[in-house]
Amino acid sequence: MTTQHSRRNFLRGQLSRPDAPPMRPPGAQARFMDLCTGCGDCVRACPEAILVLRESRSGPRPVVDFAQGGCTFCGACAEACEPGALSLETVPDWPWKAVVSDSCLSLNGVSCRACEDSCDPRAIRFRLMTAGRAAPILDTDCCTGCGDCAVTCPAGAISFEIPETQTERLA
Ligand code: SF4
Ligand code: SF4
Ligand code: SF4
Repeated sequence: MTTQHSRRNFLRGQLSRPDAPPMRPPGAQARFMDLCTGCGDCVRACPEAILVLRESRSGPRPVVDFAQGGCTFCGACAEACEPGALSLETVPDWPWKAVVSDSCLSLNGVSCRACEDSCDPRAIRFRLMTAGRAAPILDTDCCTGCGDCAVTCPAGAISFEIPETQTERLA
């Protein structure tokens, strides 16, 4: 995916997918659902307290919840996972990218730059529009999917999706 292409798509959240898989912890393996026992060790190991166990068809499984904070990609969750459902080796392979919805305050003429201010990689910038509005533009090449922007967004306008379709393993 080119930067130009991804910017155009993410500007309007065109990659939104209602059937997006749950956001598993960083390092989730291809056989995550087979390997994970639902023991909760990763949840207890996360220093940011952003992992929660959620019911699935196979029982409780961990998901990332950005309500409390962002992920530092420290790898503590993968380190704690004895069954090997999470692996440190694939921690950098975090596929999620932020998407800003139309409920963004700035997009609706209310002054706000909370996401831009919270984004260390500087993946968000704003393009001025008419009537005092400004459109958030996401550079998906820079976005790490850390979730810091979602934590600070007062409108809850930021969600996360996997841009490409290799999502079955995380379902
Ligand atoms: S990588 Fe670290 S901060 Fe991120 S979910 Fe795992 S333990 Fe938590
Ligand atoms: S530590 Fe591993 S096996 Fe246990 S709940 Fe977390 S991902 Fe599943
Ligand atoms: S998820 Fe992280 S890197 Fe991506 S836009 Fe939000 S704050 Fe920036």
